[in-house]
Amino acid sequence: MWLFQNTCVVCNEPASGVCGACVDQLSPPDVPPLLAVDKATVLCSYEGVGAELVTAIKYENRRQALSPLVDALAATLHSNFDAVVAVPSHPERRRERGFDVPELIAKRLSKHLGVPVAKPLKRVDNGAQQGRDRAERQGVEFRASDRVPERILLVDDVVTTGATAVACALTLGLAGARSTSFVALAATPAPNAATTAVSN
Ligand SMILES: [Zn+2]
Repeated sequence: MWLFQNTCVVCNEPASGVCGACVDQLSPPDVPPLLAVDKATVLCSYEGVGAELVTAIKYENRRQALSPLVDALAATLHSNFDAVVAVPSHPERRRERGFDVPELIAKRLSKHLGVPVAKPLKRVDNGAQQGRDRAERQGVEFRASDRVPERILLVDDVVTTGATAVACALTLGLAGARSTSFVALAATPAPNAATTAVSN
């Protein structure tokens, strides 16, 4: 593992996680307005270098690439939030992987922004969900705790249709949140374009 520590996960040049040249190749996607979401910010499209990075982090356990990406994301955000909230992962996915990417992103953003992490959301287990794409088509349901923070920064790793973010934002709004902004590392370029690559 130590061989990976000081090289870029994309091009293998010396770097801490991912090199500046590869970060420069990331292109921010156009994110359409999402229902109940104040502002959506996504670092890159899930294609080219962006897809390689997310794959390395999520499926090859090369988490060292996460820090420079989250740092780049944090640089685009203001800290006018009361809490950073990760979209709850499917428990089975989390067990398989042993770590939770949205949670790792939320923790690092929390440090950057000086805003605490909160966990007001629970995923409702209906026993029929087989991953993000299908779950988004079927409509993932979330439940909120009795007390939710007022201004929330909602965090996910990859956004596909946006349905998960909308479901979380609606749930948080009904539970009393005044505003929910959303951030993600990557967005699939278009619905259906990356169904083979994104299985979450
Ligand atoms: Zn590189």
